Amino acid sequence: MYDYDLLTIGAGSGGVAGSRRAAEYGARVAIVEAGRVGGTCVLRGCVPKKLLVYGARFRDEIEDARGFGWTIDGARHDWGRLIETKNRELVRLEGIYEQMLANSGVTVLRGRGRVTGPHEVEVDGRTVTAENILIATGSHPYLPKIPGIEHVITSDEALDLPALPGRIVIIGGGYIATEFASILSTLGAATTLVLRSEQILRGFDGDVREAVAGEMAARGIDFRRHVEPVRIDRLAEGFAVTLTSGEVLETDLVMFATGRVPNTAALGLDAIGIHTRDNGAIVVNDRFETHIRSIHAVGDVTDRFQLTPVAIAEARSLAERLYNDNGYKLRYDTLPTAVFCTPQIGTVGLTEEAARRMYASIRIFRARFRPMKHTLTGRETRILMKLVVDAASDRVLGAHMVGDDAAEIIQSLAVAITCGATKKQFDETIALHPSAAEEFVTMRAPATD
Ligand code: NDP
Repeated sequence: MYDYDLLTIGAGSGGVAGSRRAAEYGARVAIVEAGRVGGTCVLRGCVPKKLLVYGARFRDEIEDARGFGWTIDGARHDWGRLIETKNRELVRLEGIYEQMLANSGVTVLRGRGRVTGPHEVEVDGRTVTAENILIATGSHPYLPKIPGIEHVITSDEALDLPALPGRIVIIGGGYIATEFASILSTLGAATTLVLRSEQILRGFDGDVREAVAGEMAARGIDFRRHVEPVRIDRLAEGFAVTLTSGEVLETDLVMFATGRVPNTAALGLDAIGIHTRDNGAIVVNDRFETHIRSIHAVGDVTDRFQLTPVAIAEARSLAERLYNDNGYKLRYDTLPTAVFCTPQIGTVGLTEEAARRMYASIRIFRARFRPMKHTLTGRETRILMKLVVDAASDRVLGAHMVGDDAAEIIQSLAVAITCGATKKQFDETIALHPSAAEEFVTMRAPATD
């Protein structure tokens, strides 16, 4: 009756994962994509960003090596070569994604999709029908409408800069701003971070925010707080950013990292009456259905958690429900996340602030210490580890870390916390020595402050 069982719009992380899972169960699936296969994560986000993070990290490693007897003369960084090798890897990954779709029997329809009915999508003028439609079109950087905004770059361009700027002003204090400030400043760009509020990384644990901001400042990143840009002007060389305080920052490059908005403008959703929020986000229920039940949406386009693994988990759970009779609810309360700034952040579960709002009594366990490696390098950096515990049930509600390998360590702790582990069970776990992570099972006394 329909051309396909499932028609997905958008070949990013969510779209590809859901389409492949549906096809595994025998569904006839097509995926509509106008650009490259892979989406934000693979082409303009997580993957290229992490490769640049690795690239930048060698600067610290080279400096730290001295403490262990190494002499490394003449170390220089070539930004162009890093971008070139990064781009080669992205082409490889794109090929793998295309191959995975082909191997799963998912048809790729090249073009832009516009939803024209409950079971109908127009792809570049041609009508394609499907029993179910999945919208997984992701998001793009948000730019406020201020004079001179056409001069600025976003993370899209920052990942492909032809050269490392001498000076950069980054607007925003979220994931992207802190990550790029860390990458670019470590590689040698004089970096200024402009915050409209007091502190970076709203929504993260207060101790984590303070620890990271302190270390970023100590690494040479210049902060401006409680200010917003009002205009950007092009100069003979570089740009001038005028702030609400009246201060004018002269710089070679201005980057905005002020959040991301859903890609729904060209989907024709208004015409068929699909509800969206003010910023274009598609409204879905906990089964990822829009109010037209054959049309679903997952990931960034719903603007709930703009994280790749969430989009993937949502899309797979939808495919499981539709094509494997396996309905289950996703757990977002123990969602781990990392910020690949320097130092790195890993976090899972509740922050202290959120736990205080939700529980009558909580206990906080906190450790702040110098990593063993830096006893020889002399580098002034401290690891922060923190557990948030419900005093009544002894359940660990949240774990937070700032320091090397935080993402790797927190991913493992997320399993324990998802299983409902208690502080007593953390205490019963024997430490792995010598490691930084052992501190998570050896913190005995609750913080008294
Ligand atoms: P975030 O929502 O993380 O941060 C946005 C920042 O911009 C905040 O500091 C906010 O300030 C500030 N801001 C918003 N509007 C304005 C404005 N008009 N003027 C000045 N400042 C403004 O967004 P990002 O763009 O950093 O990242 C988008 C999303 O992508 C993230 O939320 C995250 O989910 C995802 N992501 C995840 C990564 C990871 O998992 N490691 C890496 C990169 C992105 P305030 O705090 O005051 O509101």
